[in-house]
Amino acid sequence: MTFDYDLFVIGAGSGGVRASRISSSLGARVAIAEEFRVGGTCVIRGCVPKKLLVYASHFAEDFKDAEGYGWAVGERSHSWKTLIENKDREINRLNGIYHNILKNNNVTLYEGRATLVDKNTVKVGDRTITAKYILIATGATPVMPDVPGIEHAISSNEAFHLDELPKRIIVVGGGYIAVEFAGIFNGLGSDVTLLYRRDLILRGFDDDVRTFLSGELTKKGIKIETNANPARIEKRANGLTVTLEDGRTLECDAIMYATGRDPNTKGLGLEALGVELKENGAVKVTAQSQTTVDNIYAVGDVTDRIALTPVAIHEGMAFAETVFGGRPRAADHENVPSAVFSQPQVGTVGLTEAQAREKYGAVDIYKSQFRPMKMTLSGSSEQAFVKLIVEPKSDLVVGVHIVGGDAAEIIQSVGIALKCKATKAQFDATVGVHPSLAEEIVTMREKYTGD
Ligand code: FAD
Repeated sequence: MTFDYDLFVIGAGSGGVRASRISSSLGARVAIAEEFRVGGTCVIRGCVPKKLLVYASHFAEDFKDAEGYGWAVGERSHSWKTLIENKDREINRLNGIYHNILKNNNVTLYEGRATLVDKNTVKVGDRTITAKYILIATGATPVMPDVPGIEHAISSNEAFHLDELPKRIIVVGGGYIAVEFAGIFNGLGSDVTLLYRRDLILRGFDDDVRTFLSGELTKKGIKIETNANPARIEKRANGLTVTLEDGRTLECDAIMYATGRDPNTKGLGLEALGVELKENGAVKVTAQSQTTVDNIYAVGDVTDRIALTPVAIHEGMAFAETVFGGRPRAADHENVPSAVFSQPQVGTVGLTEAQAREKYGAVDIYKSQFRPMKMTLSGSSEQAFVKLIVEPKSDLVVGVHIVGGDAAEIIQSVGIALKCKATKAQFDATVGVHPSLAEEIVTMREKYTGD
């Protein structure tokens, strides 16, 4: 049977674009469908615009810190409008680059929503297209809970396009997106309350990191309310009134939910073809990203493995090399470094202490909390935290967690060390860079024995 294409990709985000480009370079005839904007979540309304807003918000602290170093910083003001316009210009530029990537790699773009007709046939609008292989790379969407008045709330999608900076904002959620946006709004001058229904933010991260970061965010003026959840949102003449489940009320000008993301599988036609989904609607895949239908694969957030851009890209590459490159390989999800662009940042790779104890039983812990050198003259009370987790029998470093300026930049290289299965002895044998926050990673000698 002949097909229009060798590969049809649904979703031109991080995973889909990479998979289509590499597959095409390996000789496949490739088409891709996108219903919103080429580039996907990361480029259009995720990592990239988020990091630009993080940069913008950090200046507030930088101006303050500068004074201790002798700078007289004059009158400061911030224009949200300018920030959003400049951010949009950059996102449009990147969107154009992604269009060019597809064009230059001979990937045919179908603009519109794609659905599956059968295991080799896709429909985009009134066009019907056939392909030997189909790749689902449709990503995920913010979940908005069923709370009365939820129509007055925004998600991260709308936060990037607010007409003005809210004077008072409530951010609901305790994951990294909630924490990052709380920091963005706080830095830009909003009065921020972070509401989280559990008892400590950043579930899934190392407990020491969670406690430490929580303290740092509080010092910076973010009001963190744990074990708190909105029951009702009402619009009033002067803003919104949010009634919590415990009966208390809070006033704000905007409320943003960052309470999770649902895989985009609804209405795609997957179940009818026998593509099995997990309970949360994510596509079930093998290590090589193959679904339960042999010619249909899935990568990225829609599979709910590790929802990060570099992981989606990695899965997309592994898929292309497996199917079109004759080099079958599984996507590798071990020791994936990641960051939270909070203020201060978090960088983390490997196991948390709790995970390491569960896996190995006894573990050695090294940890250090200190005032970064920059903060001495600035007068800022910001502290840094570094933690190493070591499996004692093998001496392998199995987890590294950093909270502090540039933690994201530092953790990338530490990730290489963990990938190379570095031991604590090898960390110790590495000469530090002085003066730096990173040198702490190679200079900690005393095992933590309890407070
Ligand atoms: P996406 O990039 O979401 O792409 C899916 C695409 O498919 C979308 O463009 C969508 O419009 C399209 N689509 C869906 N259904 C259809 C259909 N039926 N037909 C046609 N098109 C369809 N990750 C990081 O690594 N670092 C970060 O700092 C970071 N920050 C983030 C901040 C925010 C606010 C958010 C929301 C996410 C962030 N992420 C971050 C996560 C990252 O954006 C995702 O992990 C990544 O984009 C996943 O890529 P993907 O290819 O799976 O899906």
